[in-house]
Amino acid sequence: MESAGVKIVHLDVMDGHFVPNITFGPPVVAKLRKCSKAVFDTHLMISDPKKYAEDFVKAGSDHITFHIEAVDEPERLVEYLHQLGVTAGVSLNPETPVEAIADVAPLCDMVLVMTVHPGFGGQKYIDSAAKKCTRIREIVGPDIRVEIDGGINTETIKSAVSYGADTIVAGHAIFSAADRAGAIDALLAAAQQ
Ligand code: ZN
Repeated sequence: MESAGVKIVHLDVMDGHFVPNITFGPPVVAKLRKCSKAVFDTHLMISDPKKYAEDFVKAGSDHITFHIEAVDEPERLVEYLHQLGVTAGVSLNPETPVEAIADVAPLCDMVLVMTVHPGFGGQKYIDSAAKKCTRIREIVGPDIRVEIDGGINTETIKSAVSYGADTIVAGHAIFSAADRAGAIDALLAAAQQ
């Protein structure tokens, strides 16, 4: 990925509780850290992000995103993540309204908009969820990243960018391609159209 020009690697952490699937935890992040200089954008799809945040930071995460649906005191969690020395993000599921993150979003470094239901790769992009980026951009202004995660391909990436997203997660579109560097180039070219 790095040789193909990728600067940020997005790590989808699932706990089998907040979402039905299980992926990996801090030990795998630590192993990855040894072979990559990329920014590790760690997306915690877990029920208790505060409990595990420090373990992910020690493992080498540069950024941690938690889900608004999983926490009671999001502002305090953002403060805690900043104290740990990482940037902080808040994410919202497709059915969660923008109002749920309106207070905490301006305190974050990134807002992550889920355009599929979290838990499994390879799902279809939900355009109505991506549209929330327009309102989020109004709330956070130009300096906070707005990231889209789920169902991105060379068509849906154009929609995501048109709504104001500036950071795009692509999994299936890259890793299912025989030529992964070519897939990245195609996504970037589509985003710039
Ligand atoms: Zn993700």
